[in-house]
Amino acid sequence: METRVRFAPSPTGYVHIGGLRTALYNYLYAKKNGGKYILRVEDTDRTRLVEGAVEGMIEALEWSGIFHEEGPFLNDKREIFEKGEFGPYIQSQRNHIYEKYAQELIDSGNAYYCFCSKERLEDLRESQKAKGETPKYDGNCRSLTKEEALERIKKGEKYVIRLKMPENRDIVFDDLIRGRVSVNTNDIDDQVLVKADGFPTYHLAVIVDDHHMGISHVVRGEEWLISTPKHIFTYEAFGWEAPTFVHLPVILNKSKKKLSKREGDVAVEDFRKKGYLPEALINYIALVGWSPEGNEEILSMEEMIDKFSFDRVSKSSGVFDVDKLNWINNHYIKEAELKRIVDLSIPYLIEKGYLEETEIESRYPWIESIVSLMRDRLNCLAEITDHIDIFISEEVFLENEEAKEMIEMDHVKSMIEVFIEKFRSLENFDDISIKAIFKEVQKEIGIKGKNLFMCMRVAVTGQVHGPDLNKTIQILGRELSIRRLENAIANMCK
Ligand code: GLU
Repeated sequence: METRVRFAPSPTGYVHIGGLRTALYNYLYAKKNGGKYILRVEDTDRTRLVEGAVEGMIEALEWSGIFHEEGPFLNDKREIFEKGEFGPYIQSQRNHIYEKYAQELIDSGNAYYCFCSKERLEDLRESQKAKGETPKYDGNCRSLTKEEALERIKKGEKYVIRLKMPENRDIVFDDLIRGRVSVNTNDIDDQVLVKADGFPTYHLAVIVDDHHMGISHVVRGEEWLISTPKHIFTYEAFGWEAPTFVHLPVILNKSKKKLSKREGDVAVEDFRKKGYLPEALINYIALVGWSPEGNEEILSMEEMIDKFSFDRVSKSSGVFDVDKLNWINNHYIKEAELKRIVDLSIPYLIEKGYLEETEIESRYPWIESIVSLMRDRLNCLAEITDHIDIFISEEVFLENEEAKEMIEMDHVKSMIEVFIEKFRSLENFDDISIKAIFKEVQKEIGIKGKNLFMCMRVAVTGQVHGPDLNKTIQILGRELSIRRLENAIANMCK
């Protein structure tokens, strides 16, 4: 049987990082097994629709490098079109299909019309809770005959359609991660399949679609595990073979709570905006719950495809660790082609006013040298703006007591005077020539080590530690370097 898997998000307006991992594991599994990965939009809950959400979702997934082969896509004008022979892939366009199958379940006696009012259900729930019972529909409308029900519908009464779970039966299935799962039907509610607005619920749509789209493996979040026995029974009621189920452990935050938008970034779009590279985000998120056999931590998409299996997905929840994500992102920022990192950094410089749109071309070498010097310090590209002031401001502030002590050492003033002289007469103000000057000064006045390098760094930047000093001076340029040195003599040295 061909491996066909799907990622089936509801368009809530953003792609949750947990959803990204579900999409990724589906994708890796499909690729590993020569199968197909499909994107399906589950928008049956009309109360939760968000304008533009589908478009944003497609973009976020494609940015991440998770490319579907069937489903909705965007053209150049950002309009949705579909590819694949099992469409439509957007559930709200499939209503006519669900209607037919709801009717089929009614006809076979596996579903029934329910006329219970909201108030009745609310009272029922309250009284069950008060008795310490788990709230569950009491089957009030199960015994209505079809004629009675149709009569009430004719009169215009509002109704839903519920699944008629058999009594006292064990429903058993094997989950590829959780192993054998068995639930007694007495503990399962009669699920609503069609709502009062005529729209199917997720529970009907998911089964009809997975069946018709030939889905071989349903890979989804663990929160759906409790619904799976209902789904297994529904497959049976239709006489269809159920797919294999794979429920992925949840992702928690550091305080062991579900990752939620209130407590920081959870949307793929948030990470993209901050300057996380897609390959880093994907690499990191793959490792929240899965590890390859050799426990490698840096993996390309191809390596992940090659090594992926559900055997190595953990049953217990994973923790989202921003520090580790930062470490991985930093790794990819250092490894990436410099031009890519420079181009991706430019919007942050513009946003913070360090650069004008019109200056990009003329100042490109300057930006490139800063990014090249600083990129090994970045957790994400937005942080580049924290490292610009040191290259442009006229004023230099001593960062701490140690800096003050260094600059106030006896030899510093006359040493700086020598440097100013040499900087003035230097033909090419580049890092190699600047390095040569440091060597000359060392020879001529016999000062070396910390007393030479750290003192000069403090004079030029106010800081005790920092990036390559010769390169820093080169980026500052002759004029600004000299002005800063003169300022150090006038205001800082003793
Ligand atoms: N629409 C569901 C969700 O957003 C999909 C669940 C499933 O994959 O079956 O979580």
